[in-house]
Formats: sequence, structure tokens, C-alpha cells
Amino acid sequence: MSDQNSAPVDLIVIGAGMAGMAAALLAVNRGLTVAQVGSSAEIIFASGLLDLLGVHPIATGRIWRDPWAAVDALRRDLPRHPYARLSKADIQGAFTEFCAFLADAGLPYWIDPGRNSPVLTSLGTFKLTYALPASMQPGVAARAAGRRCLIVAIKGLKGFSAPQMAASLAASWPHLRAATVAFPGAQGGEVYPEKMARAMELPAAIEDLAAAIRPHLDGAEVVGLPSILGVGGCRAVAAALSTALERPVFEIPSIPPSVPGLRLKEACEQHLPRKGVRLFLEQRVTEVQPLGDGGFALQVAGRPGFQTRLTCRSLLMATGRFLGAGLRAERGRIRETLLDLPVFQPQDRRQWHRRDFLDSRGHPVNQAGIATDRHFRPLATTGRPAFRQLFAAGAILAHQDWMRMKCGSGLALATALGAVRACRRALAGTLD
Ligand SMILES: Cc1cc2nc3c(=O)[nH]c(=O)nc-3n(C[C@H](O)[C@H](O)[C@H](O)COP(=O)(O)OP(=O)(O)OC[C@H]3O[C@@H](n4cnc5c(N)ncnc54)[C@H](O)[C@@H]3O)c2cc1C
Repeated sequence: MSDQNSAPVDLIVIGAGMAGMAAALLAVNRGLTVAQVGSSAEIIFASGLLDLLGVHPIATGRIWRDPWAAVDALRRDLPRHPYARLSKADIQGAFTEFCAFLADAGLPYWIDPGRNSPVLTSLGTFKLTYALPASMQPGVAARAAGRRCLIVAIKGLKGFSAPQMAASLAASWPHLRAATVAFPGAQGGEVYPEKMARAMELPAAIEDLAAAIRPHLDGAEVVGLPSILGVGGCRAVAAALSTALERPVFEIPSIPPSVPGLRLKEACEQHLPRKGVRLFLEQRVTEVQPLGDGGFALQVAGRPGFQTRLTCRSLLMATGRFLGAGLRAERGRIRETLLDLPVFQPQDRRQWHRRDFLDSRGHPVNQAGIATDRHFRPLATTGRPAFRQLFAAGAILAHQDWMRMKCGSGLALATALGAVRACRRALAGTLD
């Protein structure tokens, strides 16, 4: 089967991770015609927390409660970091626009504008993040106020032990207790977060879970649970369980693949097409051909027997690093997989990693990626933009280690904004 599109779209986004989804959204919001190709499967591995910047510098592991002060420090210290190409207003604007989209899609997020918020994790630790699912916010408030809290684990759910969390938190959250209950209808053995979350969208399951929790309440003012409170209908499920228990409930992110990640994936997949994005999911771009007019022709293939050729006036690569397959590590060098663009990388393979896996400075290979000009246009070996109408965003960019700096989603959203804005100007012929 083949599907030839005739008119070129303004922009094709390659990649359906956080950066690709954000780029597609920001582009349609600015009136561009957009097609997007990729798989959004990686998103479910993310926790659902949208980090802005939590750690800088990596070597000392300094943790910042104020992400904007951290961004200031980073811009001073690391002028090649992608954040240094964006103003704070840009970064903030990208979060605001993406979170507004998620709220419209039924997935509200909560931000404390001047601060990273400590979110309780299933390890009994706190992770600082910037934007968090609204379903997790009552936990942040309860901990700040030292409220009496009951953490409820589910029998058979791996990686979530309420007694272990209570033991780890005994010093920092004195009025915290633990209970473990069976999930309504579970037959024993292992239970799975996605199945439970979908089951929770039935009113009977909410009432049955509330009934299982009630005997353990014993004066608890707030109840924390693993993230299993619905997928598409999570807001209504959390509200109904709070009503049934007569106190706020909050969710705790658990090990991947995660339900908050799944919610993000489904919200983007369902609502971007409604906004006009032509989405080619579970497809890959197998070939990119630059056209004489500055645009590109792409060969797209995926399901057996399906292929199509798409054309566009400009192209945005949000293909990720090694996990997304935007970069590939070969024996002697790291390659960019689509156009074989130059990759900023250590000169010699022996320099990719430091001797000690846990070296506090991180590993040079984790800063590898595509170097761009200030308009997020990938550079050729000449140091000039490789193509006038080619842009890049997200993890594929060089000079950042999002995992250690705790800036994964923020980097994706903010650089998507920078790239889309430049793309729009390039299409209008006003980009220098
Ligand atoms: C386990 C895990 C936990 C995380 N936790 C957090 C967290 O707590 N907070 C946070 O802020 N961030 C977190 N992140 C990071 C965040 O989710 C994103 O991974 C990061 O922002 C990078 O996004 P990206 O879109 O640039 O790349 P990726 O997510 O890697 O996406 C790249 C996309 O490009 C596609 N692609 C590549 N080549 C092609 C091709 N030829 N044709 C079509 N498509 C192609 C891939 O299929 C994929 O869809 C986490 C990530 C992981 C993996």
C-alpha cells in the first residue's frame, strides 16, 4: 500500500518523543501545516514529570530548588548548552503552552512558578521537578504541611512497597503510615499498572478500592497511591476516589513503563491530530532527499507493505539520541542516522566513557549530538547551517546531558519552541 501526498506541508517533524510532540503542537499553534512521523513508545518510559533543570554543575551534583537561578548559572557556565540559546521567557513560554494543551486534553499539570517541587517517589525519595501531574500535587502540599498521610501499596505490584517507603521517610515525614491492599478483582500474583488504571475508570472499582482502604485510614488526612488512577479519565477518577475516602488522594510515580507516561502519550496521539497535525505513528523515515527549492522529500515506511512519500518546505529532526535512534554508536564513531550530519563527539572511542561508571562528571558520550547555530539549524563541517530549512530539537542536540542535569522534558519543550520559531521565520524569508 502506498500513500502519496501531493502538496508539501510547511513542516515535517521526524520523531514522536517529547521534543517531536512539542514541536508539532507549537508549529500548528503558529499556523503551520504539519506532518509528524515516528513512534511515541518511548514516552511511556518517562515518569510523567516535566523537569526544567534540577542539577548544575554535573560534577558537584548541586541540586537547585529555584530552576530559574539554575538556568542563569548554566547560561553563564555552559554557553554551548541549548538553554543558552533561549531566554527564560522562552523556556517558561514553552512549558505554559504545552501544559495548556495537556490541560485541554484532560491532563492538567501543576507548576509552582518559581520553584522545583519535591515529588515523592516509590523509592521513598523525593525528586525535584518543575511541572507535575495535578494528581501528584496533593502529595507535595501534604508533605510541606506535615499532614498525617497513609501510603497504600497494591498487593502484587512490583517496585512499590509502602512499608519500605514509610521506613525511608520516617525522619522527614513523621506522620506517615503504610498499608497494602488487594486490587479489587485481582486473583493474586503480579498486577500491572496500566490494567489497574484502565479498570479504575469503572465506578465500581473506585468504590471497591475505597472500601479496601477505609479500614486502614485511622485519622490519615491524605492518602497516597501508586499512579493507577485512570488513563484518559484520570482527573475524574482521582476526584471520585477522594470523595469516596472523604480526603484528598495523590499519586506517586512508579517504575517505568509508567501510567503518567502513558497518559502523556495518549493525550498527544489523540489531540495533536485534532489540532490538525497529520500524524504517521509507528512509521519511520527511511530516506531524506533535499530538494532544489530548500524543501525535502521523505520516504516513510512502517507497517509491512505500507510506504509513502511526503514533501515539506522545512524539516525538524527530533529523533533523540541512542534510545530514540537519532544517533548510532558504531565501532569508531557516533553517526547521525538520517542525513549523516556531523556529530559533536569525543575524538576517540576510548574517550567516550570515563573509567568509573559512577564518575560524578558523567561520561563525554552523553554530551554527544548535533551542534546547531543559534536558530537550531544543524551545522555542516564548514560550521555553516547544513540546510537553510533544517532544524533540530530535543535530546539529539549536543552539549547537554539531560539525564544528569534533570532537564529532559524542559530541553525538549524549549528547544522545540526555538526551532519552530526559527522555522517560521525561515519560511517567511526573514531568518538571517
Ligand atoms: C526512563 C526515562 C525516564 C525519564 N524521566 C524523565 C523525567 O522524570 N523528567 C523529564 O523531564 N524527562 C524524563 N525523561 C526524558 C524525556 O522523556 C525524553 O526522553 C527527552 O526529553 C528526550 O525526548 P526526545 O523527543 O528528544 O527524544 P526521544 O524520546 O528519544 O524520541 C525520539 C523519537 O524519534 C524517533 N525517531 C528516530 N529516528 C527516526 C526515524 N528515522 N524516523 C522516524 N522517527 C524516528 C523515535 O522513534 C522517537 O519517537 C525520561 C526518559 C527516559 C527514557
